[in-house]
Amino acid sequence: PMTSPPLHIAVVGGGIGGLAAALAVARTGHRVTLVERAARFGEIGAGLQLAPNASLALEELGVLDAVQRSAVAPPQLVMMDALSGEQIAALDLRSNAYRSRFKHPYLVTHRTDLHQALLAACQEHPSISLRTGHTVTGAEQTPHEVRLDFAETPERLTADAVVAADGLHSRLRQLLVGDGDPVCSRYVAYRGALPVSSMTGSMSQHASSEAVIVWAGPRMHLVQYPVRRGELYNQVAVFESDHYTPDSDDWGTEAELEERFAGACSTVRDALPLVARDRRWPLFDRLPVADWVHGRIVLLGDAAHPMLQYLAQGACQALEDAVALGRSLREHTDPADAFASYAGLRSERATGIQTSARRFGDICHLDGMGAVMRNQLLATRAPDDFDDIAWVWTPTTEPEASTTP
Ligand code: FAD
Repeated sequence: PMTSPPLHIAVVGGGIGGLAAALAVARTGHRVTLVERAARFGEIGAGLQLAPNASLALEELGVLDAVQRSAVAPPQLVMMDALSGEQIAALDLRSNAYRSRFKHPYLVTHRTDLHQALLAACQEHPSISLRTGHTVTGAEQTPHEVRLDFAETPERLTADAVVAADGLHSRLRQLLVGDGDPVCSRYVAYRGALPVSSMTGSMSQHASSEAVIVWAGPRMHLVQYPVRRGELYNQVAVFESDHYTPDSDDWGTEAELEERFAGACSTVRDALPLVARDRRWPLFDRLPVADWVHGRIVLLGDAAHPMLQYLAQGACQALEDAVALGRSLREHTDPADAFASYAGLRSERATGIQTSARRFGDICHLDGMGAVMRNQLLATRAPDDFDDIAWVWTPTTEPEASTTP
């Protein structure tokens, strides 16, 4: 039970990070107003991998059961060679080694399903108020409060403190950190999930496997896994463009996609026509920064630590952020102190994962001798050997119950 009066905390951004943060803050007894730029809450129609660090966070936020109702628990993570079509390595997610080490499931889910579970929990919480159609343009701080300005209305929102969960192109980060534009990797993704029932022949047979399959090739890869109780199959094709130009969308085109994957094995080539083409996603990250806290404003999720997707950890880290934020608000009555404590719990770990994600991408996209050596090295790993990845899948902070007496 709280001894000091509840704070009013504004959360900017209603993505996975913002909704999780709103929930974590409200669960500590504080009042939350969440503002989202879009006219409606939502996520894009593609999949998301949730490693055990994320499912632990979802459990701590009280939404793991809801997410598990539609998520798939894949039996294996498999790495295939996209050129030869041969298996490079696999990790067995149903092994005793997995279970005893991580205790929480590895899940794959449709983004909409995860977002919906978080949104429903926020809607049901009496201390959370949700506002769409509110684009934050600026923030003004006094020693006691923060006032947010919006593009759509002259009315300001006053709160005791602000959590900036406004994503990769965060306006608040731009104002507070000022580290310029995100860094474009020259890679682009095409992605989407489509009904397994609409697939025919070898592709439908392939899609009935519940494994997460990563086809690694020179400067490209393809990721495949089922979502939504196995009803949809998610595919993400990623490649490096030779025609990158800043300030233009005329690179990473469909024609380049076909060209880059032309040398792939037949299973990969057969899958390509079923990869969604309606939108391309240039892939960005940023260099890590330590200053997530600016008085009564704090960064969270992609606004704090945008990373390349190669370790599938961006959303997982946003969920860890939310849990840590809740914990810090329980331990500190002053929001600035709580934010400093949260950043202390989180920034080193998020930085390590942000940095490793780039490196893992490089390993995935090796060519020639580099790829041969990678394949030989990974082939020596047993399917129940999690030593390399365990640090990524294990949050540094212990679950709540075991920390405070
Ligand atoms: P966002 O989802 O970007 O949400 C920001 C929200 O803020 C949006 O709703 C936006 O409309 C709103 N907003 C923005 N500006 C304003 C403003 N000025 N005022 C008000 N609202 C505003 N992560 C994983 O964990 N596992 C994966 O398997 C995985 N795969 C990925 C694959 C690809 C191809 C990509 C590109 C990313 C992947 N990620 C993955 C990363 C993950 O998608 C992100 O890290 C995560 O969605 C970030 O959530 P967020 O809430 O911080 O930001």
